[in-house]
Amino acid sequence: MEYKKNDIVTVEITDMGHDGEGIGKVDGYALFIKDALIGDVVEAKVMKTMKNYAFARLEKVLTPSSFRVEPKCAYHRQCGGCQIQALSYQKQLEFKHNKIRNNLIRIGKFEEAFVDSVMEPIVGMEQPYHYRNKAQFPIGTDKEGNLIAGFYAGRTHTIIANTDCALGVAENEQILELVLQYMRENRVTAYNEETGKGLVRHVLIRKGFATGEIMVCIVINGKSLPAEQTFVDMIKKVTGVSSISVSVNKERTNVIMGKEIRTLWGNDTIEDSIRIYDVVQGEGNVSDASSTAGMHGTCDMRGTFGANSEFVDSGRAVSFRISPLSFYQVNPVQTEKLYSMALHYAGLTGQETVWDLYCGIGTISLFLAQSAKQVYGVEIVEQAIRDARQNASRNNITNAQFYVGKAEEVLPDLYEKEGIHADVIVVDPPRKGCDEKCLETMLKMQPERIVYVSCDSATLARDLRVLCDGGYELKRVRGCDMFPMTGHVETVCLLSRKIDKKGFTYREEEIPDCECIYG
Ligand code: SAH
Repeated sequence: MEYKKNDIVTVEITDMGHDGEGIGKVDGYALFIKDALIGDVVEAKVMKTMKNYAFARLEKVLTPSSFRVEPKCAYHRQCGGCQIQALSYQKQLEFKHNKIRNNLIRIGKFEEAFVDSVMEPIVGMEQPYHYRNKAQFPIGTDKEGNLIAGFYAGRTHTIIANTDCALGVAENEQILELVLQYMRENRVTAYNEETGKGLVRHVLIRKGFATGEIMVCIVINGKSLPAEQTFVDMIKKVTGVSSISVSVNKERTNVIMGKEIRTLWGNDTIEDSIRIYDVVQGEGNVSDASSTAGMHGTCDMRGTFGANSEFVDSGRAVSFRISPLSFYQVNPVQTEKLYSMALHYAGLTGQETVWDLYCGIGTISLFLAQSAKQVYGVEIVEQAIRDARQNASRNNITNAQFYVGKAEEVLPDLYEKEGIHADVIVVDPPRKGCDEKCLETMLKMQPERIVYVSCDSATLARDLRVLCDGGYELKRVRGCDMFPMTGHVETVCLLSRKIDKKGFTYREEEIPDCECIYG
């Protein structure tokens, strides 16, 4: 079947793409339709055709899917933030679990039955809305020239006025309305990206969920804010606000924050802490791998909401000081579970030397340090390492040391020169996954266990294949829903070193060349 642009097609949605877009097939020809959900029968308009598939725009839902729910946000289709808000949360979790599963099979070349035997139920949220602790709202004007705050429409820089995002904290709305009121009353202009003129560009709001402390940073295209004191007096009244700052960004770029931050009132930073859970897996819980077999297709209820009962507060926590520019995970509720799982998989007894690669501000490193002999973190961003060192000392952690540099350079270098050793290696790379040189060195170091935390299950699957061909066995894989309502999913995996029949571990000369994978 050949389609051309602007054709109207009626199709049943039978699958979901990587970003949660609906996929329908007509005579083997696939149509990718954003906002169409699995189970819908829709009318769509063909927008762009390729050889075997086309992109189409949803025109009308003819028969709604039984998985459709009433979305909380009226702007969910226009806004670039949420892709699958209209899909029931249960089905979202199932989609994410299957996305990991499919990538392990298709890209990682693991057997289906094996994948089902190692996959544990995805960890969902009990309250999948209002989970974000950080938001950056663009400020602009509408067609009539009224000041607005909101979100960029998907793939554009058009601002949709909406101060009440369903993923953010309740205080966002109050703060943004006050910013707009201040601007109107003091005749302060909004920045216009096309002309490069106007003052206020963005408002960054961050909240420490554990402490309730809120930071407001206004990003401006100029040296200072008119009637600065009035602005401060208005914003500081919002319950929780403990830091108000201004960031100067005069560059004509997409980068939101300027390099310079000046505190107008309160503290330079806010505090937050992340609890460490004991992960208790056993009777009544569903985490033994056997209970997850056959989970694909329909998501086990116990494996979603119920799985949270495995996370038992250990009474320990790591505290952080966050500045407007610091990297910090945006979903603290799930971060606690994700890192506790990573810690659980690491199986530490207090005797181990652990390397935490791609460590950011040391969040995972500091979790690990409390249960290990020594932790070494490696991270490319210098400021993040400065934060990591400060966070270590704030928490009285003395057995964590940090290196600035690329994991693929620092690790091989130290291995060659100093013969560094690891009992456990934890990696949490960006979406592109681990560099081949890094994987190669990890294999040479032969740690007992590798814990791989990933935000992209496609590159994860590729890297797991290298590690498994290099002498490791995939033991456990588990999704964690860090970003409900979006197509993203985080994964944590445990690999352990294979031991050959003679009790020898894998030999170095047997380690395969990784190049073919990266091509
Ligand atoms: N584990 C941290 C950060 C994970 S995000 C946390 O959970 O908070 C991935 C991190 O990898 C980012 O901080 C990024 O700056 C860093 N990074 C990216 N490329 C890198 C490389 N080649 N070597 C080391 N770190 C890198």
